[in-house]
Amino acid sequence: MERPELIQQIKKYFTLEELACPHSVAYFGDRAWGFFRQDYLETLLFLRRHYNVPIYCNHDGLTQRGSRCNLCEIVATRKSPYVSAHVLWCAGDFTFLGYTADEVRSEIKGIAHLLPYPVRLEKGVSWVHLDTSAYCQTGKVTEFAV
Ligand SMILES: [Zn+2]
Ligand SMILES: [Zn+2]
Repeated sequence: MERPELIQQIKKYFTLEELACPHSVAYFGDRAWGFFRQDYLETLLFLRRHYNVPIYCNHDGLTQRGSRCNLCEIVATRKSPYVSAHVLWCAGDFTFLGYTADEVRSEIKGIAHLLPYPVRLEKGVSWVHLDTSAYCQTGKVTEFAV
């Protein structure tokens, strides 16, 4: 999908504040859309349309579930290299309305062949961490534990 079309479509379902940290939103404004990886946004759009329910990222005062910058606490407090997909603009921690995280993960595995790009899912957490980083990727759906 062409980039302008993709951004237009994703904006029907997500605001920038939901997918990016407040520092980036305040500093870059709408230009911050340009940081997100194409494969990530296309995957997110695919899943939003597939499930057809609200998918929440940053909500209820949470601000570090989408992209994270160097000012975000999770990043700023690290003493070792931090190259999470969250800082590469290709990850989010999501809640799918009406589904548990386990239900979403098992359905995503079931529709792996339909996914536009390979994804990685974090195992055993109560939220759906989904990213399109190629780090330690082993197939269409890679599950990892931190
Ligand atoms: Zn930040
Ligand atoms: Zn995460």
